[in-house]
Amino acid sequence: MKIIDLLKNEKLSLSFEVFPPKTQSGFETVKTATEEIAKLHPSYMSVTYGAGGGIGQYTLQIAKNIKDNYNVPTLAHLTCVSSSKETVAQKIAAMKEAGIQNVLALRGDIPQEMQGADRSGWDFRYAIDLVRTLKEAGGFCIGGACYPEIHPESANQKEDILRLKEKVDAGCDFLTTQMFFDNNLLYSFLYKIREAGIDVPVIPGIMPITNANQIQRAITLSGSFMPQRFKILVDKFGSDPAAMKQAGIAYATDQIIDLFANGITNVHVYSMNNPDVAQKIMQNLSDILGK
Ligand code: FAD
Repeated sequence: MKIIDLLKNEKLSLSFEVFPPKTQSGFETVKTATEEIAKLHPSYMSVTYGAGGGIGQYTLQIAKNIKDNYNVPTLAHLTCVSSSKETVAQKIAAMKEAGIQNVLALRGDIPQEMQGADRSGWDFRYAIDLVRTLKEAGGFCIGGACYPEIHPESANQKEDILRLKEKVDAGCDFLTTQMFFDNNLLYSFLYKIREAGIDVPVIPGIMPITNANQIQRAITLSGSFMPQRFKILVDKFGSDPAAMKQAGIAYATDQIIDLFANGITNVHVYSMNNPDVAQKIMQNLSDILGK
């Protein structure tokens, strides 16, 4: 099923994100964890595109397994930066063969060793190049990434939203956000992008922080603002793993309830291959989700 059709449903829902193993040796563990999450019947599951496998084979294998054996629609991530046209064509062909209908078209982070390289000759410099290629290939529901707190490489939000509008106009059917810990940042972002003429559905991404070590990593990766309310919670419970997990899940649940109350119908949860976290959030919202 295409995500854009699924989003037409007014019913409140959650989707979950998982990541593929880096090597074959981790495959079975990841497969089992993703299957446990699929058994919770989320609206869809996204599978990130990591370092493992020449053509993102583990992303495809995990996505195909969930789709074919658990009847959960999947969204396969794909990055393109510095790839050749031939490599990307191969990856798209592999996705079609696996029956993947939904793709999150991403640029990917520029590898450290390429930071200073002349990018003018690259076939794919930005995600928009991949969106155009996927559109030409036809048959895909295409998603793009967006950043309520601005992409770290953008000079300012006006510039970032201008680039986002170009990407959407090139063929994005929907957008998924970077994680954020203060919903007001999302509401203000939505207001600005709607004003800029971006009218595709935006799926907010929520990351439950369940251990203190995750926090620094999350901030480094996303540059997200940590509200005082969240910092206090980490100060109090960060050294007690069980308490931190419970508090982090409660905080994420609160964010999701507020999003639903403010008109969002599907929230994407960065569940990080953790069925227990996914299950607890579902349980917390069971009446709200009608499950
Ligand atoms: P783009 O949309 O290309 O934007 C990147 C930057 O370039 C922005 O600052 C933008 O404003 C600017 N820009 C865009 N077009 C132009 C232009 N024409 N001229 C000048 N500037 C321009 N990474 C992975 O490796 N694997 C994953 O699975 C993955 N999943 C993700 C899922 C989500 C929901 C999000 C938010 C991010 C994910 N990432 C993933 C990280 C992502 O690859 C990085 O954030 C990357 O740095 C940017 O990717 P993008 O697709 O947003 O790029």
